[in-house]
Formats: sequence, structure tokens, C-alpha cells
Amino acid sequence: MKKPSILLIYTGGTIGMMEDVRSKSLKPFDFKHLTKQIPELKKLNIELSAIAFDKPIDSSDMNPGVWIKLAGLIEENYSKHDGFVLLHGSDTMAYTASALSFMLENLNKPVILTGSQLPLGIIRTDGKENLITAIEIAAERKNGKPVVPEVCIYFEYQLYRGNRTHKYNAEHFQAFQSANYPILAEAGVHIKFNYNAIRKVNNKKLVVHTKLDSDIAILKIFPGISKSVVESVLAARHLKAVVLETFGAGNGPTDTWFVELLKNAIKRGVVIYNVTQCNAGAVEQGKYETSTQLKKIGVIGGADITYEAAIAKLMFLLGQNSSLKDIPRLLTSSLRGELT
Ligand code: ASP
Repeated sequence: MKKPSILLIYTGGTIGMMEDVRSKSLKPFDFKHLTKQIPELKKLNIELSAIAFDKPIDSSDMNPGVWIKLAGLIEENYSKHDGFVLLHGSDTMAYTASALSFMLENLNKPVILTGSQLPLGIIRTDGKENLITAIEIAAERKNGKPVVPEVCIYFEYQLYRGNRTHKYNAEHFQAFQSANYPILAEAGVHIKFNYNAIRKVNNKKLVVHTKLDSDIAILKIFPGISKSVVESVLAARHLKAVVLETFGAGNGPTDTWFVELLKNAIKRGVVIYNVTQCNAGAVEQGKYETSTQLKKIGVIGGADITYEAAIAKLMFLLGQNSSLKDIPRLLTSSLRGELT
């Protein structure tokens, strides 16, 4: 049987960092060190190829331009490999995974993002296990078909649907959670796949969308938020959409000025997408009086979508020039399993 072929794409992040001797801060190092650090990679019964960014980046420098480059790399190499593993900093990994999930329509091969909390060069690193298991998962096949044909994050023994994840811990090795969707696999002695939760192969041709529009803003409300703050966010130049981070099940202040400002923005064609500040659970506009008015003026409820996926989805839909008429329907339905 032919060995599965996996392409590693190294973007940067802690996994490939080393300590600068003088400043003691972490800096990206050359990709060549990665295979040196994990000689076990050569022992896997998997054909590994690798592409490294010329200049590896800390994922805080991630942006839509890099997402487009990554989607392009996957498209170019799609027919040559059985799966892809992206090494990426954990800080913005959930955003990248979400963006790629929308950009890669009809994805029928695994795209697994992984990274680490401690650099590979450090003895207690979590990077080694993360990388080796991510590669094994990307190569896993059943009845000749890839087991996980979707964009995922693998971190600390758990495989998550990428657009359902959130980095919630800056200290623990278990840095991610997927509060509103079951994990796709758990790695112990064996890797146990949760087949019911994993997307099925659809045999359609991959369509790569490379237009994203980042003319969006976040408005995270808090008790006492001032009119001038809300006004300035909504007055941002070229603004097309706002992720409104609300309390609980999608609730916000009932002050007339607040509702009026949102209403006027919606009249101007700005899309307002209501996402909860809570880690788990969903927006249900109309459940309380404090969200009924939001629903009435045309704020769109994001159900249980994560903040990261909401941002990526808006950039994607605006990039496709989706019409204002279609956007509410698209935002409230699941395009890539990102909401329930
Ligand atoms: N700052 C790093 C990054 O996101 C942290 C990590 O790799 O986990 O690139």
C-alpha cells in the first residue's frame, strides 16, 4: 500500500521558536531545526514534505493576506498530498482555522492546525506530541477515505473542529476548548475518532475562495459603555459589519440611544452580528426583553458561533460580495459546521 503523503506547512509560532540568548525573549527559528528536534518524524510510515514560510511569524502577526497565501498553498498542493498539517502559533490559531474552513469549500482532505505552548527545543515541550499525532490524524484513512476531511485544530490529545475552537488558556497545555461542539477525536493509547461528529466526504471539487473583506469591527458591550464609544465604533470609515459581543443569551442595554445608534447603522447597510460574551451557549434573540429590541431593528443572531468564527465568516461573506438580502440567511445557517 502506498504511504500516505502529508504536507507540513510551517508558519511560525512557539512550536518553532527558540530563546534569544541575550534578550531571553522567544524568537522564530529556521524550519530546518524542526526535523532536527524530532527525528521520530522519519520513523512514521508517512511520506512527509514540508514548506516553511521564509520569515516564520508569531501568530499575532497573522492577517487575511496570510490566510489567502495558506489557502493558495493548499490549493496548489491539493492533488499531490493526502492531508495537510499547519504549524501555527496558538494565539490566533482559532481565527486561522475558522477562516480556512470558509475559504476551502468542499474540502475533502484533512487540514490540521497544531502548535505548542512550549517550544520544541525545551525538554517539557508539548509540541512533539502535538505534531506527531497531528500528522498521524492527517494521514488516517478508513475504507480508502480520509477520516477527518475538515479543518481542525489538534492540541493536547484532543482534535477539535477548527471553527468551533477558542483559545481559553494561556498557561495550560490544554489551551483550547470547543464548548458548543463535541471533540472530533481523543488521543490516548489509541486515537479514538468521534465519527458521528466528523464531517463526511462529499466528493465535490475543492473551491478555494480567496477574497476576504476586513472592514469589520468588534463592539464588546459592558455595563456603563458610553454613547461616544459606541458612536465611534459605528462611525468607522468603510465599516460594513460589526460583531456585537453581548451578555448571556444575546442581551444588551435597553437605553434608547444604544438601540437608535444600532438601528441607524443597520439602515446604512451595516451588518450587526450578535455573538455572546459567554464561552458556551447560544444567542437567542427574543428570549429576554433586552434582546427583543435588537431582533426588531434587524440585528442578526449568531446562535452558538464562536467570536473567532463570527469574524472569519463576516470577512468571508463580505469578500464574496454576498448581497445584504442574503447575508442574514447565510449568517444564521451553518456553512461549514460553525454553528448549530
Ligand atoms: N505567541 C505565540 C503565537 O501565537 C504563541 C504560540 O505559539 O502558542 O505565535
